[in-house]
Amino acid sequence: MDVLVCGAGVAGAALAYWLRHHGFTPTVVERAPRVRAGGYAAGLRGEALDVLDRMALLERAEALDLRLGDTAMADEYAALPVAVRAGDLEILRDDLAGLLYQATRREVEYVFGDSIATLEQTVGDVRVTFDRGQPRRFDLVAGADGLYSRIRSLVFGPPELFVRHLGLYTAVFGLPGHFGTEEGGRVHRVPGKAAAVLGTRDGTRARAALHFASGPLAYDRDDAGQHKRIVAGRFADEGRLVRRLLEEMRGAKDLFFEANAQVEMHRWFSGRVVLLGDAGYCAASASGRGASQALIGAYILAGELAADGGHARAFAAYEREMRGFVAEHQHLGREGADQFFLGTPPQEGLDRTTAARPYLIRLKDYVPGFAAERPSPGRAAR
Ligand SMILES: Cc1cc2nc3c(=O)[nH]c(=O)nc-3n(C[C@H](O)[C@H](O)[C@H](O)COP(=O)(O)OP(=O)(O)OC[C@H]3O[C@@H](n4cnc5c(N)ncnc54)[C@H](O)[C@@H]3O)c2cc1C
Repeated sequence: MDVLVCGAGVAGAALAYWLRHHGFTPTVVERAPRVRAGGYAAGLRGEALDVLDRMALLERAEALDLRLGDTAMADEYAALPVAVRAGDLEILRDDLAGLLYQATRREVEYVFGDSIATLEQTVGDVRVTFDRGQPRRFDLVAGADGLYSRIRSLVFGPPELFVRHLGLYTAVFGLPGHFGTEEGGRVHRVPGKAAAVLGTRDGTRARAALHFASGPLAYDRDDAGQHKRIVAGRFADEGRLVRRLLEEMRGAKDLFFEANAQVEMHRWFSGRVVLLGDAGYCAASASGRGASQALIGAYILAGELAADGGHARAFAAYEREMRGFVAEHQHLGREGADQFFLGTPPQEGLDRTTAARPYLIRLKDYVPGFAAERPSPGRAAR
C-alpha cells in the first residue's frame, strides 16, 4: 500500500517509521525545504517513551534530555504557564523531529518544499495533485500537517469549524548558546505575559519562549516579520531580559508563533483520508502533550492498518483507542491555559493533578513479542 503522509513533523515522521516497519510504502511531503527547526522543550511521558523504545530511539532521546543535572530548569518549569514540566523526558522539539527523520530518511521518500493542492477520493484510491510535483495516486493519505492542516481543510472543512482558541499566544525562537548558560531558567512574568529562557546542557543552544494573553489575532501565518512585530509590540517596556530577547528575536530565522488552540473534531477520518497529531486533535502548547500524542497516534494508526480488516476498520479502531487519551490531554491544555490567567500558577498542585491522572492508553503489542522482552520504560518512570 502506498500511503502519502502530509507533514514531516513528529507525527508525520513517526507515522512514516511505523508504516515502513509494517511493510507499507510511505511518502512524506513537507512544505518546508527541510525538517523544520525550532520549538521549545517537548515533554514526553508514559507510553510515548514506550513508543520511542519500540523504535530503538529511547537511548538517543535520553541523551538529549534537557533536565539531567540542570537545576536551573526546575526553577523555570516552576514558573511556566504551561504544564510542560510534567514530562519524564524533556527534549527540544526539533531534536525529536530530527531524530525521527534520521531514523526514516533512508527508507522513506521525503519530498520537501511541496504540498498537496487537491485530493480526489475514488473507490480504490486517492488522486493527489501537488503545488509543484506531478500528480500521483495513493491508497491512503494521512494529514500530519499541524494545527492549520491543509488536508483537514481540503477534506473536512475550514479551521473555523474545528480550531478552538484558548486566549493565549506563544512565540519561541533560538538564542545563541551563551544565553542558556547565563540566563537559563530565567523567567519574566507579569499579568498576561511571561517570558522564559531555556538552554541545553552542553551550553551550545538556547531558546526563548514568550507567552501573552490575547483574543484571536488576524495575521498572515507565513509572515515571520509580522509575527515579530506583534510579539515586540506586546512585550515593549518589559525590562532588561525581555529587551535582550526581543533584540535576538529580530534576527531569528526559526520563530515559531502560534495560538494556543485545540482541534475538536467528531471524526478523524473520511474515506481513505485520516488525520494525525495536531491536525486532528491538537491539545494546545499549554497541555505539554503534543509530541506524546503524536508519537502514540502514529504507533496506533500504523499498527491498526497492519492488522487485518482494511483501512475503514483500522481508522475506526485508531480513533477509538485514542479518543479518551486525547480528551485527557485537551483537558490538560485548557487547565494549563487557565493557570496562565491565574497569575503565579500553583504549579505543584497542577503537577500532582497531572501525576494522579490515570493513563488512558495501553499500547497494543503491534510488534509481536516486544512486551515479553523488555519492561515498559514509560510505566517504570511513573
Ligand atoms: C517549527 C515548530 C515549532 C514548534 N514549537 C512548539 C513549541 O515551542 N511548543 C509547543 O507546544 N509546540 C510546538 N510546536 C508544535 C508541536 O511540534 C506539536 O504540537 C507536536 O509535536 C505534534 O506535532 P505534529 O507533527 O502533529 O505537528 P507539527 O509539529 O506542527 O508538524 C506539522 C508539520 O507539517 C508541515 N506542514 C504544515 N502545513 C503543511 C502543508 N500544507 N503541506 C506539507 N507540510 C505541511 C509543517 O511544516 C510541519 O513540519 C511546534 C511546531 C513546529 C512545526
